[in-house]
Amino acid sequence: MAGTDADVLIVGGGNAGISLAARLLRDGFDDVTVVASSPGHRYKPLLNYVAGGQSTMAELERPMADVVPDGCRWVRDAVESVDPAAMTVRTRGGLTLSCATLVLCPGLVEDWDATPGLQSAYAEGWAASSYVPGSTPTVWPRLSSLRSGSVVFTVPPEPASCGPTALKPLFMACDSWRRSGVLADLQVRLVLPAATATGLPEADRYLEDAFADLGVEVLRESRIERVDGDLHSVTLATPSGRRVLEDVDFAHAVPHYRAPRFIAEAGLSADATPGLVDVDPETLRSRRHDSIWAIGDAADLATRPSGGGLRKQVNVLAKNIAAAREGKRLSRYDGYTVMPITVTRRTLMLNEVTRDGSPSPSVPFIDPFVPRRWQWFFDRYGLPQVYWRRILRGRV
Ligand SMILES: Cc1cc2nc3c(=O)[nH]c(=O)nc-3n(C[C@H](O)[C@H](O)[C@H](O)COP(=O)(O)OP(=O)(O)OC[C@H]3O[C@@H](n4cnc5c(N)ncnc54)[C@H](O)[C@@H]3O)c2cc1C
Repeated sequence: MAGTDADVLIVGGGNAGISLAARLLRDGFDDVTVVASSPGHRYKPLLNYVAGGQSTMAELERPMADVVPDGCRWVRDAVESVDPAAMTVRTRGGLTLSCATLVLCPGLVEDWDATPGLQSAYAEGWAASSYVPGSTPTVWPRLSSLRSGSVVFTVPPEPASCGPTALKPLFMACDSWRRSGVLADLQVRLVLPAATATGLPEADRYLEDAFADLGVEVLRESRIERVDGDLHSVTLATPSGRRVLEDVDFAHAVPHYRAPRFIAEAGLSADATPGLVDVDPETLRSRRHDSIWAIGDAADLATRPSGGGLRKQVNVLAKNIAAAREGKRLSRYDGYTVMPITVTRRTLMLNEVTRDGSPSPSVPFIDPFVPRRWQWFFDRYGLPQVYWRRILRGRV
C-alpha cells in the first residue's frame, strides 16, 4: 500500500502469526509482513510429549525461514514499541515500520520474577517443564528415573498457554510408574490454580476419578509463591495460608506468564486481564483502534488460549480484515478452544468447548470429554502433520 512499509503487519511468528500470514496471502492480500524475532518455530503441543518421553525436540522445531510463507516479507527483529495513533512499530534493531493494518500476536513470556527461586531451580536442573523448551528434554529422564520420593506438578495460572495440557506429563509419568510398580512409593502432588483442573464439569469428573485412582494429592486454588533449590522446597499460597512442600525430588513447575510489556505501554491492554491486548473477543478487533487486531495467547479473548482455538481465530480474522475494508459485516469467533489431556500413555480427552463451556466437537456427535485411544494417536501423530502441511500454510 502506498505510503506505508506494509499493508498488513503481523507482530509474532508463532502459530498465530504464520498461519494468519499464509491465510491472508491465499485470500489475495499481496503485501503482508511478519516481524518475528526468533530464528526458529516450534509446534508447541509436542513439548508435552517430549516431557512424557514420546517425542523429541527435533520433531517439533523448524527454522523460521522454512515456515514463513512464500510472498511474505519477514523482518527478523523484535518489536519494542507500538504507536497506535501513527500506526507504526519500532523494533529493537532501530527500524520504524508503518502499516495500514496491524495484527498483534506475540504470545506470552515467562514471568520469572513472579516466582523467586524458580529460574535458578531450572538452571540447577531440580525444576524443569514442558513449558520451558530449554528444559523440556530433561523432564522425562528425570521423571522416568524416579523410583521413590516426592514429585510436584503444577498447572500455570492464567494468562497461560493452554494451561490444563500441563497435566499431560503427570498422567504419562503416573502411567509409567504404575506399570513399573513404583507408583505407590512416590508421593505425587498437583498444584492447581483453580478448584478443579479444567473448569469443565464433565472433564473434571473424569480427571478427579483419575487423580484418586493414581493417588495424586491435589492442592487446589494454589500457586507457587517461591521455590528453594538448595532445600528442594516449594512454597505455595493456598486458600488456608502458606504451605511449604519439603524434600521435593523433582518439580515439574511451570512458570507464571504475562504478555509482552509493549502492549500495555502502547495503551492497548485490557483492564480485566492486564497486559493482554484488549479486543472485542468475537470480532478480534481492538476496542481502542479500528485498524489494530489481535489473536492468539496475547489477546484477551475470554476463553482458554489454544492452538486449536487459533484455527477458528485465523479464519474469522482473515475475513474481518477484508470485511472491515469493504465496510461489510464482521464475522464472530465463538471462543472455541481445546484442552487435550492424555489420561494414560495411550488415551486422550480432547475437551473441545466454546466460550461458555458448551461441547463443540470437531467430529460431529462424539462426546469431547471421553478419553479415547484414536484421539491420542491423532493428537500425537496426526495433528503435527496437519499443522506443518495445512495450518501453517493457511489451508485450515
Ligand atoms: C507446552 C505447551 C503445550 C501446548 N499444548 C497444546 C495442545 O495440546 N493443543 C493446543 O491446541 N494448544 C496447545 N498449546 C497452546 C498453543 O501452542 C498456543 O496457544 C499457540 O502456540 C499460541 O500461538 P501464538 O502465535 O499466539 O503464540 P506463540 O506460539 O508463543 O508465538 C509467538 C511468537 O511471537 C514472537 N514474539 C514475541 N515477542 C515478540 C516481539 N516483541 N517481536 C516480534 N516477535 C515476538 C515469539 O518469538 C514467537 O515466535 C500448548 C502450549 C504450550 C506452551
